[in-house]
Amino acid sequence: RKIGYAVVGLGSYATRQIMPNFAGCDSARLVALVSGTPAKLEQFGTQYKIPKTHRYSYADFDRIRDNPDIDAVYIVLPNSMHAEYSIRAAQAGKHVMCEKPMAISVAECQAMIAASKKAGKKLMIGYRSRFEQYNRLAIDLARSGHVGPTRLITAEHGFPAQPNQWRLDRPLSGGGSLMDIGIYSLNAARYLTGEEPVEVSAVESTDRNDPRFKTVEDRINFMLRFPSGIIANCVSSYSSSHNSYRVIGTQGYIDMEPATPYQGQSMTIRKDGVATPRVLPAAAKTQFAGQLDHLAECILTNATPIVPGEEGLADMRVIEAIYRSAAEHRSVGIKA
Ligand code: NAD
Repeated sequence: RKIGYAVVGLGSYATRQIMPNFAGCDSARLVALVSGTPAKLEQFGTQYKIPKTHRYSYADFDRIRDNPDIDAVYIVLPNSMHAEYSIRAAQAGKHVMCEKPMAISVAECQAMIAASKKAGKKLMIGYRSRFEQYNRLAIDLARSGHVGPTRLITAEHGFPAQPNQWRLDRPLSGGGSLMDIGIYSLNAARYLTGEEPVEVSAVESTDRNDPRFKTVEDRINFMLRFPSGIIANCVSSYSSSHNSYRVIGTQGYIDMEPATPYQGQSMTIRKDGVATPRVLPAAAKTQFAGQLDHLAECILTNATPIVPGEEGLADMRVIEAIYRSAAEHRSVGIKA
């Protein structure tokens, strides 16, 4: 049996990356659409052969409860809407896949986890890099000490933000570059170490005269200290292009550039003074299909996803500490 997904929010990521990738899934299929725009429901409903009975507006979202074809709901809305729709989906008896950032506060993440637990349903966060083969290899190599025990990690993520969009409107986004793209630096530092940071020190730099940055931050760099002593130095930017990380051990480093794009990851390993590109055979499945299939397989076998709600919550705890550190100009301790 294939698990049926309803996609909520027919924006850029949903329609260009997620929906086309159901075609490459073994255990997941697209069965329903939710949108506030009737023309999009018509266009994508026709394209993906979704019957009219399986097309919903936000006003009748809760009626998904009565549709047994929908097992799971994929929330691809602006960040501040993630909590509400994830909770309503759980209350309608559905499993939830929610995009990153999981929500815009620790309290919202906790409420989402509680709602899914209460409903007895799964909650997974859209951390697609965990289903991408170079990132998986980097995790194995870093944690097994391939270039010696990890001492430092550098992680850089950023892009120049386009003006006039919800990402730059704090009530919808919850924050600027950190919520959107810097979270990849943070998440990578956590998955490459397998540890939770205990201390953070952050510095923000935002030109408030730039019309894009009236309510959200541009650059916010942060340094994390992990229990084993590893330090991660992370870039988050809305005004420059970055996509890389480097795991530095006692004998060399593992380089990924680009590290977390939709495709085209590239890895080089420098060990004992010799740098070698690491090239893997083409993957059987895209990271998007891998992610969609993972939740489906967890539902079918009653397993816990490798990136459950608790993973989104862990990032959000650090994000709140990063913002506090930058605002208070001091390092901040993080408690689990
Ligand atoms: P987008 O602006 O292209 O799409 C957002 C959708 O939400 C649109 O269809 C819009 O109509 C709808 N919407 C409903 N209510 C809205 C409101 N009040 N204001 C604005 N839009 C509203 O954005 P996107 O790039 O698709 O991002 C959606 C989510 O997906 C975000 O949480 C983002 O962080 C996440 N995302 C993840 C990745 C990834 O690689 N994992 C990539 C891009 C986006």
